[in-house]
Amino acid sequence: MKTIGLIGGMSWESTALYYRLINQDVKRRCGGLHSAPLILHSVDFAEIAELQHNNDWPSLARELCNIAINLQQAGAQALVICTNTMHKVAADITEVVHIPVIHIGDAILDACKQNDFKKVALLGTAFTMEQPFLKEHLRNGGLDVLIPNQPERQIVHRVIYEELCQGRVVEQSKRQYQAIIEQLKQQGAEAVILGCTEIGLLISQDDSVLPVLDTTVLHAKAAVDFIVEE
Ligand code: GLU
Repeated sequence: MKTIGLIGGMSWESTALYYRLINQDVKRRCGGLHSAPLILHSVDFAEIAELQHNNDWPSLARELCNIAINLQQAGAQALVICTNTMHKVAADITEVVHIPVIHIGDAILDACKQNDFKKVALLGTAFTMEQPFLKEHLRNGGLDVLIPNQPERQIVHRVIYEELCQGRVVEQSKRQYQAIIEQLKQQGAEAVILGCTEIGLLISQDDSVLPVLDTTVLHAKAAVDFIVEE
């Protein structure tokens, strides 16, 4: 099996999901006592979130590039950035390492292709919903991407940082997300991308009127495809 490097801690709530999902899937595919060879670098998310909200993307790129280089030196054969938002600096990371970065957008595109989804809604941080780094990746892959309106985007963003990244699942927030997903369905979305790795803590398939594409699950599966590939 191959070894992957996880750039995690953004937040640790979702990195814990990645760790569990990756190991469960390796066990399912390989059986017995098999588990995933991986190296995890987990950051202090308070520092990262502050830089994000100060729009200091150059510092964030530098920090994640250093982590990526260290993981490569430690023996990682591919990298997984365990957050949608920080894929904003995925291209910077690709430039400083010679191992592949398993892009979360490719995992989403694969799932949409398999299910023949063409028009999808994207929920995530304001950075992910409003900036082009993930949307363009998806549009270049042939998808039509819808995002909520500004007041709804604010709700989605606030719940991520004030609740989900702090391990809080609030019933009222679930209802707000459900209403937003319903609106996006009315606008023609065929599926909803949970484009933030913590949203799966709040919304499951049973909570959604649209088919759910959980990026944590899809990305973890792509990581395992790499780990077990001959
Ligand atoms: N984990 C989240 C994401 O997938 C948000 C935290 C972050 O800003 O990295 O975008």
